[in-house]
Amino acid sequence: MKALIELIKGDITKIQADAIVNAANSSLLGGGGVDGAIHRAGGKQILDECIQIRNRQGKCKTGEAIVTSAGNLPATYVIHTVGPVWNGDEEKGSKLLANCYKNSLKLAEGLDIKKIAFPNISTGIYHFPKELAAKIAINEVQNFQTKKIEKIIFVCFDEENEAIYNELLKDKQ
Ligand code: ADP
Repeated sequence: MKALIELIKGDITKIQADAIVNAANSSLLGGGGVDGAIHRAGGKQILDECIQIRNRQGKCKTGEAIVTSAGNLPATYVIHTVGPVWNGDEEKGSKLLANCYKNSLKLAEGLDIKKIAFPNISTGIYHFPKELAAKIAINEVQNFQTKKIEKIIFVCFDEENEAIYNELLKDKQ
């Protein structure tokens, strides 16, 4: 089965989904951008669980994903994945960004999640080119075979990403 894809412009912390994905950094201790917004809105519970996971298994590597509860957020879980910092190496960066989506979806599948929302991972502070990032994100999500996930939401915070996703998704749905 393939999940339905939806595009929303807005703030991912407001989304009611079984899981929202966080564009975390490898420390798992919070940061700026969407990471900061999720920790601020979700409260201390999320950070406490991130610290526990970090103490158990160390930092989260680029492209990998871990899960916590969602504290005060309307979602049930937060899946934290670490996107690549853009350094001009398109091949390596693309693979790592694809892994973020793949590993987050695999984790979600194991948690019986029906609805999951993604931010535009790596396209903020990590400076990944937005169009390339969107192509990778859409490709991974469309190729993901699932028995559980019914809906995958791309939450675009900025207008540039919203326009890119709109354009790329318009031919596909
Ligand atoms: P990264 O370090 O992976 O680049 P950022 O958080 O800086 O992470 O940016 C990733 C994307 O998240 C950017 O496109 C940014 O516009 C977006 N973003 C920032 N705040 C929010 C939010 N509250 N909800 C959804 N997306 C957000």
